Amino acid sequence: MSERNTASKYVEIEGLCFDNRFTNELSGDPVLSNTRRQVSHAYFSNVKPTKTSKPETLAISIEALKLLGLETDITESENFAQVFSGNALTRDMEPHAMCYGGHQFGNWAGQLGDGRAINLGEVIGKNDLRYMLQLKGAGPTPYSRSGDGRAVLRSSIREFLCSEAMFSLGVPTTRALSLCSTGDQVMRDMLYDGNPAEEPGAVVCRTAPSFIRFGNFEIFAARGEVEELKGLLDFSIRHFFPEVGEPSPSSYVRMFEEVVASTAVLIAHWQRVGFVHGVMNTDNMSIHGLTIDYGPYGWVDNFDPNWTPNTTDRFQRRYRFRNQPAIAHWNLAQLANALYPAVLDVQPLQQALDAFEDIFNDVWSVMIAEKLGLNSFSSMDSHNLLSDLFEIIESEEVDMTIFFRSLSKVTLLEGQHTEQNVDVVRDSYYTPELITGEHWHRLGNWLDRYVRILRNEGLSNNERIERMNQANPKYVLRNYLAQLAIDDAEKGDLTMLNDLLTMLRNPYDEQPEFEKWATKRPDWARNRPGCSMLSCSS
Ligand code: AMP
Ligand code: MG
Repeated sequence: MSERNTASKYVEIEGLCFDNRFTNELSGDPVLSNTRRQVSHAYFSNVKPTKTSKPETLAISIEALKLLGLETDITESENFAQVFSGNALTRDMEPHAMCYGGHQFGNWAGQLGDGRAINLGEVIGKNDLRYMLQLKGAGPTPYSRSGDGRAVLRSSIREFLCSEAMFSLGVPTTRALSLCSTGDQVMRDMLYDGNPAEEPGAVVCRTAPSFIRFGNFEIFAARGEVEELKGLLDFSIRHFFPEVGEPSPSSYVRMFEEVVASTAVLIAHWQRVGFVHGVMNTDNMSIHGLTIDYGPYGWVDNFDPNWTPNTTDRFQRRYRFRNQPAIAHWNLAQLANALYPAVLDVQPLQQALDAFEDIFNDVWSVMIAEKLGLNSFSSMDSHNLLSDLFEIIESEEVDMTIFFRSLSKVTLLEGQHTEQNVDVVRDSYYTPELITGEHWHRLGNWLDRYVRILRNEGLSNNERIERMNQANPKYVLRNYLAQLAIDDAEKGDLTMLNDLLTMLRNPYDEQPEFEKWATKRPDWARNRPGCSMLSCSS
């Protein structure tokens, strides 16, 4: 990669204020050429984004912009598209790609690193909070291996929309600031079937407190670079986990405890809203317990615990919906192994790891109680109620989002209202006309039992409905909706993309103008690539 191709121009973005702790306090790769290689004894490599031919801003998240302390009119400036597509830099940026490794699909994969992500620097935003800015799809880095360092428009739209949707759902996530087209074409074999085609390229600018992953620690442990491992732990504690105390083996363990807890909370949220990440490799696990790296993710339409959107994983289904808690636990075990050389004591790490299940169950219990409108979820009765419910909605195609959202509408009036209550959720069935009387009967019995429990809870109707509606979103980024927005955007029409962004800002509110997007997946989307299955090609 010649210097000529990289962002060499400096421009100003008013209001962006940098303080680059990661690159200032940790050592970088002494080799400055952008060649693909193994990078040892370094936390990152300095690398500039590659220039693009015709950058344009397609969408921005006003909320994310405000977090950075930027004014909204800044996005109209020519400089904004230049900087956030990687075509130009501001003077205080320290562009770099991070070095990390990871376990992919259960196996150690060695060095991975930011192959197409470039961190621009750490911004001091509103309320003195800090945000690392990162461009995804901004060109090759020393970690690109066989990739081109680019991202296509379809996957960039999916990342942009879903990050912001997750935030509004209350699910911890990295944020997306902007989506820019590059004007360049990128070659991709979308279905991995030997038919590569050119697609429009794009760059998403995302933000997070940091993009440090489990894999950042794993790479040092795997290479026996214990000083670097400790350096990253000390850095993380100083800046992100100061409450655990001065860096020492015991504070390393306390930091690990925090990562265990935040990861458990994260996964409980995913299960609550029906999100399947699709590629829970340890390089895609944030130490901040954030959803990170939106690739072939998907939303459960019909409640199928065995569903995965990722075609690469369709045989083993390692990262299926049901497995996410167990996989998170497994990933945390890999992180514990990586921290061992700095802690040198198995027992406290094991103990911290063992806490995962209890933390997950506690958080999940609160969430499921809210989803069902119960005061608490601890008795045997409520556990049986839930497992019986899952059995019923797994046995037929039942839309998870609509089912739970509708459930608040059951009547608690005295007397038998079984039929009426079955009607309340009937619309969440994909093929109600094919459902047997026996199934409706079973559902009716379950609803009767549920209503009896609700009556004893003593919540007023309004209170209960309000509580349930805050836990059961009406609007999620259904796979087919994202695909429709992509189809339009590829033709140059950004209306749906922006409408979805608006709708997803208030996922728990009734929004009559968007009612059409709160309906079940249409039949045409059942087997269409992008709607029901996705490859990693992005
Ligand atoms: P992912 O599966 O997207 O999390 O990516 C796994 C690894 O492959 C990471 O190190 C990425 O940076 C890298 N990677 C993915 N796509 C590309 C690409 N188009 N060019 C270069 N590296 C990539
Ligand atoms: Mg990744």
